[in-house]
Amino acid sequence: MPDAMKLLILGGTGEAMALARALAPDPRFAPMLSLAGRTRNPRPPPIPWQSGGFGGASGLAAFLADHGMAALIDATHPYARQISANAQSAAASTGVPLLTLTRPPWVAKPGERWTIVPDLAAAARALGEAPRRVFLTIGRQDLLPFREAPWHHYLIRSVDPPDPAWLPPVCEIIAARGPFSQESERALLTARKIEILVSKNSGGAMRDKLDAAKALAIPVVMVARPEAPAADHIATDIAGALSWLARVHDAERGV
Ligand code: NAP
Repeated sequence: MPDAMKLLILGGTGEAMALARALAPDPRFAPMLSLAGRTRNPRPPPIPWQSGGFGGASGLAAFLADHGMAALIDATHPYARQISANAQSAAASTGVPLLTLTRPPWVAKPGERWTIVPDLAAAARALGEAPRRVFLTIGRQDLLPFREAPWHHYLIRSVDPPDPAWLPPVCEIIAARGPFSQESERALLTARKIEILVSKNSGGAMRDKLDAAKALAIPVVMVARPEAPAADHIATDIAGALSWLARVHDAERGV
């Protein structure tokens, strides 16, 4: 039996973990998952994994070559632009086939009150001049712009506690890891008297916070996705990624 095909998954998302789970029992593939190392205690995947960067696009290219990787899957978050650019560059320089696995963006449903803004600084401005109770669901790395609007009260949810230096002056931190239910999101929004929600357009099937905000008529400031680098192959779900991998596998083996 030929050796399993080695492939690298760039992760930090639920999609990357789901793909790792789907590939773990498949003898055709020898996958490895890579994490940036931002989360202190990541859930361990059922495949070999490592944490920490590669040292830019050239470091990633060297890693692909040194480990005999036959495919690269960029399953990073749509707002993680640098690693996706590095993946494009490393794939181009090594000739390793690249798939981008990305969730379809959320679209406002009828009755949802979204203000779409281009970036986080614009999100902070969109909160307005009057003090409001704001729910920030943007992770812990992008809080600095909200220090420019210190008159609001912020409820901040993130997996690990944020660096105190990044925090706006009046805030409450909730350390929590999703997924969340619509019921628990509604209960939280109600209990904390939230008046406006700030979100990135992470996309995908889980949109409980948006559904809860709609049910409570709470407006949403939605930070638009940054432009993604042009990709030759894109999958929006695990099934699409698996069929792309099967094609790469068969082509590599001359099937
Ligand atoms: P980024 O700005 O695109 O990347 C910065 C650097 O972090 C990269 O140049 C790379 O370092 C390293 N890196 C990022 N992802 C990596 C991975 N999967 N494996 C190994 N190294 C990685 O990334 P970011 O926005 O800070 O996001 C960091 C991670 O958190 C990503 O893996 C992403 O999927 C996840 N995440 C991000 C967000 C978000 O809103 N940005 C939300 C949820 C999850 P080197 O150049 O040294 O290789």
